[in-house]
Amino acid sequence: MEKQVQKYVDDFMANLKAKNPGEKEFHQAVQEVVESLAPYILENPQLQKMKIMERMTEPERVVMFRVPWLNDKGEVEINKGYRVQMNSAIGPYKGGIRFHASVNLSILKFLAFEQVFKNSLTTLPMGGGKGGSDFNPKGKSDNEVMRFCQSFMTELQRHIGQDTDVPAGDIGVGGREIGFMFGQYKRLRNEFTGTLTGKGLGWGGSPLRPEATGYGTCYFAQEMLATRGDSFKGKTVVISGAGNVAQYAVEKATQLGGKVVTMSDSNGYIYDPDGIDADKLAYVMELKNVFRGRIKEYAEKYPSAQYFEGQRPWGVKCDIAMPCATQNELNGEEAAMLVKNGCICVAEGANMPSTPEAIEIFQKNGLLYSPGKASNAGGVATSGLEMTQNSIRLKWTPEEVDAKLHSIMKDIHAACVKYGTEPNGYINYVKGANIAGFIKVANAMLAQGLV
Ligand code: NDP
Repeated sequence: MEKQVQKYVDDFMANLKAKNPGEKEFHQAVQEVVESLAPYILENPQLQKMKIMERMTEPERVVMFRVPWLNDKGEVEINKGYRVQMNSAIGPYKGGIRFHASVNLSILKFLAFEQVFKNSLTTLPMGGGKGGSDFNPKGKSDNEVMRFCQSFMTELQRHIGQDTDVPAGDIGVGGREIGFMFGQYKRLRNEFTGTLTGKGLGWGGSPLRPEATGYGTCYFAQEMLATRGDSFKGKTVVISGAGNVAQYAVEKATQLGGKVVTMSDSNGYIYDPDGIDADKLAYVMELKNVFRGRIKEYAEKYPSAQYFEGQRPWGVKCDIAMPCATQNELNGEEAAMLVKNGCICVAEGANMPSTPEAIEIFQKNGLLYSPGKASNAGGVATSGLEMTQNSIRLKWTPEEVDAKLHSIMKDIHAACVKYGTEPNGYINYVKGANIAGFIKVANAMLAQGLV
């Protein structure tokens, strides 16, 4: 059987790579999924006959477009715009928009592919998609960001809608950008609907949507730790990133009794052995969300902290690590360092932050390790709750949303345990998340015929 599984994976990947040359992030995401699903697919010939996996790795639609805009000097700028509509078997396409200079088709296809599994895991009726642009918001004025967002939405609005495709935020797209895009969508379509999520609280947004990804990741880590009778209490936590996900991961990990000692951005990380408490976090939020500054300013403000230029925080001794910045930000060497320093739990807030080598090291050493598609699903789940509130034209309280988020994260954890527990008792969260996410989508595709 092992040989047969390996052959299935090798043949599948050879075909995928030939059809999608050069898309290395997409290959990486698919490889991880196919490796864990291959035994299940080989046991179910109908899945092979109907080429479910082949269809799931071919987007239903990809839209690529020009985004022209004027900078503050009156010069013409041109960016690339994309929307990858991956799979709508269980609901309208749903997934964030990323604005970052590194954005390309491979990255958006990997993110859209992961999103299909993640959205299925949330138990809510959402398909998977992702979009974005190689626009870099850093250093741009609010007016430039607005003009860009308006131009981006002028094209994107043809392809989305509350029952078709509902985008949200991601790297480089927060409340400000969602506001500008929603405004332009509303103006062009002459409708006030829930077509974007992550909206402001006063105009259709859900309580707790900004907090949801970071909080959800901590709730998931809490469940993982509980399988070993453990918790956040008294633990040292290392977190990367200083954006939306990282900020609220710091907040919740601290509330749950952990001491968070690092945050980072693409220039370096800060180490604060005294812990990043509520007051210090409020400073980071203002620094990042209002002044759009750099994390190194933290070390200038708080003498207890040190700043490490050009480095990542994984060498800092900790019990729990939470990568919350970007893909492939934690490699095999760094994973070995975490293990050596006694880390027991790695919960991913970002999408695919650990390289395949890092994941292998975590699993071989028996760490509690959760892939982003399981542990960061609280963000999109709460986006799903925002869609529900928009549809019923009601708003829930923060307590109601938090209770729903918490219960969804517990359900996702339970699904991972159900499908991922190995004969020796080790919970393989990668396998669990992939199989649990896959089954619902595959069954829907089988029921809906060759579309
Ligand atoms: P933000 O833009 O708010 O923050 C991103 C953070 O990561 C910033 O600190 C940024 O630093 C850092 N970062 C970005 N790119 C790189 C890079 N190439 N190398 C090092 N650091 C980098 O994004 P989010 O917090 O929303 O997203 C973070 C991760 O979480 C992403 O992987 C995203 O896909 C994932 N995610 C987000 C969800 C959400 O609800 N927002 C939901 C689920 C997953 P700098 O400022 O220097 O760029």
